[in-house]
Amino acid sequence: MALIVQKFGGTSMGSIERIQNVARRALATHKAGNQVVVVVSAMAGETDRLLRLAGEIGHQPQDREVDVLLATGEQVSIALLALAIRQQGGVARSFLGHQVQIRTDGIHGSARIRTIDAQPVQETLAQGEIVVVAGFQGVDEQGDITTLGCGGSDLSAVAMAAALKADACEIYSDVDGIYTTDPNVCSRARRIARISCEEMLELASLGAKVLQARSVEFALKYKVALHCRSAFHDGEGSWVVPEGSEMEGSSVQGLEGAVVTGIAYDRNTARISVSDLPDRPGSAAALFRPLAAAHINVNVIIQTPGLDGRTALSFTLPRNDADRAVQLTEGLRATLGFGALIVDKQVAKVSVVGAGMRSQPGVALRCFDALGEAGINIFLISTSEIKISCVIADRFTELAVRVLHDAFELEKLPG
Ligand code: ADP
Ligand code: ASP
Ligand code: MG
Repeated sequence: MALIVQKFGGTSMGSIERIQNVARRALATHKAGNQVVVVVSAMAGETDRLLRLAGEIGHQPQDREVDVLLATGEQVSIALLALAIRQQGGVARSFLGHQVQIRTDGIHGSARIRTIDAQPVQETLAQGEIVVVAGFQGVDEQGDITTLGCGGSDLSAVAMAAALKADACEIYSDVDGIYTTDPNVCSRARRIARISCEEMLELASLGAKVLQARSVEFALKYKVALHCRSAFHDGEGSWVVPEGSEMEGSSVQGLEGAVVTGIAYDRNTARISVSDLPDRPGSAAALFRPLAAAHINVNVIIQTPGLDGRTALSFTLPRNDADRAVQLTEGLRATLGFGALIVDKQVAKVSVVGAGMRSQPGVALRCFDALGEAGINIFLISTSEIKISCVIADRFTELAVRVLHDAFELEKLPG
């Protein structure tokens, strides 16, 4: 008997019919002789609807009350799914985050999981019931409800799988796996049968929302193999596996031979540029200190070489943090002294990812050539061993994804 954790996202839970479909799938897995834990998200659009409501009243960053509100979306989902399973002849019990003791830190809106108490789930499974767990939520040391950030149900599922030492962790969504890029943007995208955790982490961190980045990080750390599949039809999806790990008798090395594995994009991006900053030790630290204190995640950072004792610095950050960041940075003007402070909220980051580029020259040139030929201007460039990211005007995002997909001939990758 295997223990299988299945996660169904918002689209898969988007209507009563779809919830009944999830119930059928969970029951089929259970009837095949497995123990089943189903982790679910709020019904499609619900988290955004709740956030809009809170926005109409106004709220603080990392607001305790916003987490109380957002967590209700998943509460609705688990109850409806448990009812649907029962209606179809199964036995299921639903659990909120605090009931399965998903213990987190106290950072509301982006809490990190610390521990999970597997016991209540194991007891329920031992009684032959299907366990339905609310994704995206946990409880902090004070007993307050926390949420895990956008896409957080993926993390809930991976963490449950790790805590229960599950045999499989299946992530179901509206796509049948992980593609070379978002198949909804580029029709030539190809499904990747197996991808290394490292490459998936890079793709997810750079915006490929098919998996939440932190869930992949967790999977890597606790060696949980993930199977991303379609909620709507059977068949193999894509496996995310630790690099070099053994699976189905063969060794997995990502997409061996391919220089580039995929293209990711992140439209939730803004760019801030500060000019005429004093070129002296401590300037950059002074600039980023208040942003770090406000838990604002700064991303691509480019500083130009100093000239006449002055320098310029640009960085990207999530679009919805831009106004707060500008306000915090303006607050430094009197003490730090700088020239213009420019914010552009209509930018996006497009990234080319591949472990193979470590040893392959000319990848950056190919990327810049493709964008240049398409008439797309690059504002900022950042590279690591296995990625090249370009910050461009948001309106060119989809075009950039397609031309880069073509430039690296990703449609020809072996599936
Ligand atoms: P869920 O609501 O089930 O969590 P998401 O909407 O978060 O699902 O993730 C699935 C979506 O991820 C797909 O609809 C697709 O548009 C998008 N996506 C982005 N990049 C990729 C990729 N490389 N492969 C597959 N899907 C991708
Ligand atoms: N409902 C949450 C969100 O919209 C959790 C999830 O979907 O994973 O991000
Ligand atoms: Mg998701």
